[in-house]
Amino acid sequence: MIDTKHQIRFDPAECVGCKLCYKACFIDVIRWDEEKKHPDFRYVEDCERCFYCESVCKKGCIEVVPDYGSERLHQTFERYR
Ligand code: SF4
Ligand code: SF4
Repeated sequence: MIDTKHQIRFDPAECVGCKLCYKACFIDVIRWDEEKKHPDFRYVEDCERCFYCESVCKKGCIEVVPDYGSERLHQTFERYR
């Protein structure tokens, strides 16, 4: 588990190294660790909470946990009011 304001929980036990989460992330928060054949989560504070990575992982290895109290998230919601 990586802790910042937002969290992305990753359970490597079930990961099959399909790279779908890596391909789904459009802002480079998910890198690819070629040695471990696992996703490598960086700059989690930049995550846009689109849940694409969580959605595409058929093994249930990823859980995106937004910090709903964060100012930036409220700014995102403001755009849709
Ligand atoms: S989508 Fe899931 S199984 Fe595939 S590489 Fe990512 S975490 Fe592993
Ligand atoms: S929730 Fe979206 S932006 Fe965040 S790591 Fe997953 S794919 Fe990338």
